[in-house]
Amino acid sequence: MAKNIKAIRGMHDLLPEDAVLWQHIETVLKQVLTSYGYSEIRLPIVEHTPLFRRALGEITDVVEKEMYSFNDLNGDHITLRPEGTAGCVRAIIEHNLIYNQEQRLWYIGPMFRHERPQKGRYRQFHQLGVEVFGFNGPDIDTEIILLTARCWRSLGISKYVSLELNSIGSFESRMNYRNALIAYLEKFRDQLDEDCKRRIYSNPLRILEHKSPVLQKILNNAPNISIYINKKDREHFAGLCKLLDHAGIKYIINKRLVRGLDYYNCTVFEWITDKLGAQGTICAGGRYDNLVARLGGHDTPAIGLAIGLERLILLIQKVNPDSFQLHSIVDIYLIYSGKNTQSKAIVLAEKIRDAYPQVRLITNYGGGNFKKQFARADKIGAKFALVIGENEINSGYVNIKNMQSGKQQMILQEDITAIIQLIIG
Ligand code: ATP
Ligand code: MG
Repeated sequence: MAKNIKAIRGMHDLLPEDAVLWQHIETVLKQVLTSYGYSEIRLPIVEHTPLFRRALGEITDVVEKEMYSFNDLNGDHITLRPEGTAGCVRAIIEHNLIYNQEQRLWYIGPMFRHERPQKGRYRQFHQLGVEVFGFNGPDIDTEIILLTARCWRSLGISKYVSLELNSIGSFESRMNYRNALIAYLEKFRDQLDEDCKRRIYSNPLRILEHKSPVLQKILNNAPNISIYINKKDREHFAGLCKLLDHAGIKYIINKRLVRGLDYYNCTVFEWITDKLGAQGTICAGGRYDNLVARLGGHDTPAIGLAIGLERLILLIQKVNPDSFQLHSIVDIYLIYSGKNTQSKAIVLAEKIRDAYPQVRLITNYGGGNFKKQFARADKIGAKFALVIGENEINSGYVNIKNMQSGKQQMILQEDITAIIQLIIG
């Protein structure tokens, strides 16, 4: 027998029972986004490789070792998107969406990174991304944080997440800070692992986020980025903190939070939970005021964030397993048996759907006696069974059985409203 072909490591099927939970969570998130006036944008999953190299930076974890890049049949270098911001910026430049106008956008979909799979870290994972273009002030930084806080409230997880904030200043400030940090880290070169030794010169800021106790100890006395930030950026950050205070959002200023991609500046933030082990960041974002220009558009301030949906769902399942008592997926299971009942049943099902599109109805196919069909209705978790047998054909009635209480009632087949009223209650 042929060997079964399995899914690719780190890429997972979402089975129907998972999909119900995903749909529910997506609905909640979309509703929050809509309430802030954000619009959806749908983007390709593959882009030209140089887009990511230019946007994210050559010396970043993602570009150096995590991208799924290929040559297609024409020999073009293409990459499965590892994140959404680069493609979104490409699209708004390409379609001139920021000419004399602001944009508040969101998207949802799969991202691909060739990482070592573990809990909360996959090779195909999903993000809900938010990108806002055209606003300079800390007001918009506040808005996207408020928006995420509202998402957590709606999902019942506020108690389990905390907000960490930092400002990494402008590119120039960062260069000055970078030099000071390199000078400091050089003194401890012998104590660093190979990866960090290499990073001292290529991306020293990234060393700040290293979790190893040895490194954390070394970093306790490292120069602090806040000293290198210019007045304007300091004021921006103070403005953000003040607005968050007024809005009642709690946060921790984490001076070591720098984020892994090159495009960030000024505000950076993460929403973190201690319930998921090492993969505790469920949402991350920041300003990227230079990226639009770097990708060829005219200078446009911007800020964005991405929610890691797998981690969000792991957290919800862990802390709030009962918050989504997902309703059975069917309201009605339509059962029929006997002469002339099939066409009657199919027509009745269509009439119900015409009149009440929100009602979830499955018609029994594949025959079977009543007992067997009731067993199927039960297995599927239907709330009600509608039964049409030869008696019902003659009388014009339909038998409605409440699958939980066992109570039965006869109602005229014609009277769709009465049937549904009984079911919806
Ligand atoms: P990490 O430090 O955990 O690797 P990151 O800084 O690489 O995260 P971002 O690029 O900021 O992550 O992506 C935003 C969010 O997307 C993360 O906070 C996380 O929730 C989620 N995410 C990133 N990579 C993965 C992955 N491989 N599997 C699942 N979720 C991921
Ligand atoms: Mg990563």
